[in-house]
Amino acid sequence: MRTIPFNKLAVIGDHPRWPGCRLMLTCAACGWTKGYNPARVLARLQELRAGGYTTPLDQVARRVQWPCPGCHRLHWRVAFALPDNPDPRETRRLAGRYRN
Ligand SMILES: [Zn+2]
Repeated sequence: MRTIPFNKLAVIGDHPRWPGCRLMLTCAACGWTKGYNPARVLARLQELRAGGYTTPLDQVARRVQWPCPGCHRLHWRVAFALPDNPDPRETRRLAGRYRN
């Protein structure tokens, strides 16, 4: 996965800008990572009335309340990332879906 550089103002609703991207949760203490589907994370925030399209990524990170499985600390960072070898067909399919 390649992390997409973004500024502090990046929000969860930005994810359609990078079709097929994942929301990477990274432990700042030990480097443990897990990828999530950003659309599902966004839907979950809305369901919990905890946020929406304009929720900044650093606030998304703060909502993660379980400790890292690697080092048992609570020090999460969140960023968008793209797979190293995205499937071009899947990328086109997702791009089309977000356009409509
Ligand atoms: Zn850790």
